[in-house]
Amino acid sequence: MILFVALALSLCPQIDEEQSKPEIDISLGCKKCGFMGAEDCNGHGKLFDAEHQVTYCWEAAQCKDCSGALLVDCNGCESGPLFLRRQQQLSKMERFIKSTTEPGILLERKLPRILTEHFDLCVTAKKMKNGSKNMDTHQLMHSMATECEAAASLFDTHFEAQPFNYSNRARLWYWTSEKDHQEVCVEILGSNGGSDLKFYGVNPAVSSFSNGYGLSNDALEVVRNAVHVSIHLMLSSVHQVSWIGNKKAGWFDVGAAHWYEDKLFARVATYCIDEANSGLHYENGQWRVAMKKYLRKNKTYILPTLTQLTSGVLEEEQHALAWSFYDYVVANHPAALKPMLLGYKNDVESRVLFKKHLEMNIMQVEDAWRAWVAETYPAKDIKPRKKV
Ligand SMILES: [Zn+2]
Ligand SMILES: [Zn+2]
Ligand SMILES: [Zn+2]
Ligand SMILES: [Zn+2]
Repeated sequence: MILFVALALSLCPQIDEEQSKPEIDISLGCKKCGFMGAEDCNGHGKLFDAEHQVTYCWEAAQCKDCSGALLVDCNGCESGPLFLRRQQQLSKMERFIKSTTEPGILLERKLPRILTEHFDLCVTAKKMKNGSKNMDTHQLMHSMATECEAAASLFDTHFEAQPFNYSNRARLWYWTSEKDHQEVCVEILGSNGGSDLKFYGVNPAVSSFSNGYGLSNDALEVVRNAVHVSIHLMLSSVHQVSWIGNKKAGWFDVGAAHWYEDKLFARVATYCIDEANSGLHYENGQWRVAMKKYLRKNKTYILPTLTQLTSGVLEEEQHALAWSFYDYVVANHPAALKPMLLGYKNDVESRVLFKKHLEMNIMQVEDAWRAWVAETYPAKDIKPRKKV
C-alpha cells in the first residue's frame, strides 16, 4: 500500500507537467542562465561588440561554441528569451554560410566575408599596418564595416533612406593578387579593371587593390578608400538605380564622396581618376583653409562651369571646390539633397534644380556659398586621423 502511494506521488507531478505544457511561459529560462535561456559566447574576445554590429561574419560563424550566433546554449533549460534568439541566429548563420558570392564561385575558394546592413565586404590581405601596429584581415574587415556603416548612416539621414531603399548591398572587394582582381573585373564586372573598377548597377561593386596605387596595405588608406567609394556606389543605387557621375552632376558625385571621407577622417586622399590615387594630394587633403583662401583670391564665378562637368574630367582643385559646395548644401539646405540627387538621376539641369530646391539662381547660390565659406571655415584645419 505504502509503495503504491509513493509511486502515485512520483507519477503525478509528471502527468501534471505533461498536461500543463502548453501553459509554460516560454520566456522562463532557469536559474543557471539567469532566466535568459542562453549566455554570451566568450570565444570572440575584443571583437565581441563588433560582431554584434554586423549581420554576418565568416570568422565568427566558424566559432565551435556558437557557430556565429554569439550565444551559447544553457544546458539547464530549453526556454527563455535568448533561447529563441539563439535559434533564430543559428538558422540565419546557416543560410549565410551556405550562400555564395560571385568572386567565391569564380575563384573557387572560400573568401573572407562580412555582411552589414549596407555592405558585402571581402578583403584578402593577410595583415595590414595600422599606425604603429598590425591588423589581421578579420580586425581590418570589422574596422571597414564600422567606418562604412558610420558613413552610410549619415548618408541615410541626408537622403532619407532606409536599407531597403537601395537596390542591393554595395559589394567592396580589395584584393592583394592582381590576377584575382583582373579575373573579377573581366568575368564579373564585365570590363578590364586597371587599378580599380567601380560597377554602378543594381548590384553595385568595386574591385580594387589593397597593396598598390596609394593604398599600400595600410589600414587607414584602405578603409578611407572604402568609405569614399561606398558613397559613389550608394549614390548610384539609392531610390533609383542610375549613376550621376557621367551626367552634368560630377560635382555632386565627387563632392559627396569626399565629404563623407573628410567627415570621418578629417582628410581627403581618394581621387577616382584611374592611376590617380598615387599622385594627387591637393593641399594635403585638408581643404577648409585652402578653399577659404582660394575663393577669396579667385573672384570669377565657378559654379556655371563646375555644374556642367562629369566626374571623370574634374581637375584636382575642382574636387576640392565640389566638396566645399556639397558642404554648403549639407549645412544650409539638407532637405534639398534627396530631390537634387533624384533630379540629376533624371537628367534635370542644375539651373532648374537650384531654382526649385535652393530657391536661387546659379549666381545667387554661388554668392551664398562663398559668403558661408568666408564666415564659417576656420583659420586652421582639424587634425586628421592617424589610424582606423
Ligand atoms: Zn537555463
Ligand atoms: Zn568577425
Ligand atoms: Zn562564439
Ligand atoms: Zn571618387
